[in-house]
Amino acid sequence: MIANYHTHTPRCKHASGSEREFVEKAIELGFSELGFADHAPMPLPKGLHPTNYITIGEMRMALEETDGYVNTLLDLRKEYERDIKIHIGFETEYYSSCFDNFLSFISDYPIDYLILGQHFGEVETVPLTYYGAQTSSEERLAGYVDLVIKGIESDKITYVAHPDLLAYRGDINVYERQMSRLIRSANEHRVPLELNLFGLFELRHYPNLAFWQIASDIGCDVVFGTDAHSPDMLLKPTALKYAEKLVESSPKLNLLEKIQFKPIR
Ligand SMILES: [Zn+2]
Ligand SMILES: [Zn+2]
Repeated sequence: MIANYHTHTPRCKHASGSEREFVEKAIELGFSELGFADHAPMPLPKGLHPTNYITIGEMRMALEETDGYVNTLLDLRKEYERDIKIHIGFETEYYSSCFDNFLSFISDYPIDYLILGQHFGEVETVPLTYYGAQTSSEERLAGYVDLVIKGIESDKITYVAHPDLLAYRGDINVYERQMSRLIRSANEHRVPLELNLFGLFELRHYPNLAFWQIASDIGCDVVFGTDAHSPDMLLKPTALKYAEKLVESSPKLNLLEKIQFKPIR
């Protein structure tokens, strides 16, 4: 592994280790590129249910923290320019009422790329839909796929993080029908899908082998993302080996070691 584009910082409130520690660890591991994609600050509309502000807010940096995030990474980029290429990105969600405001908010900053990690449904929904929870509802599954497709169709998304985050426990044919839409849309817009090494290492419900079977049948571009929430998570050899085996045994999965960013302005 020579690059990782899915790295967090403590600003999201559930990661640890300084940006410098992540950078030094990546250099030690021999990475030539390190992309930070912390959970993006989100300009939420007024009038939401208070619980929704809290739930969405507590897993991401506040708007006021964006300066510190960007400036810290710009300084480190300069300091370590001989050793590693540092990219500044965000892991964003696609919320219909926020996405344009989000793009305009970050247009003041030198952001290199966005990845899409859709954890929640539309912000106005009460109670808020969390897609990591188990479900056998096709409506919920289709809602997730619709939001991811809207994100892809914005043409601002460099890749989709853990596309298989939704924990579906229903009919496999339904799953195939819905996830095929997501995969085909990604292909149409030349957006790679991430095989999430964090989920693999932690034995989470993703990567979901059923999803990757569908992806193997259709074919798609794949990128490994370590989704590191601490410096030691930047490389877990067992997870990487497993992911490599999965891709090697599926000729239609095209692994990209480095990726091209989609311009965001
Ligand atoms: Zn996270
Ligand atoms: Zn992440």
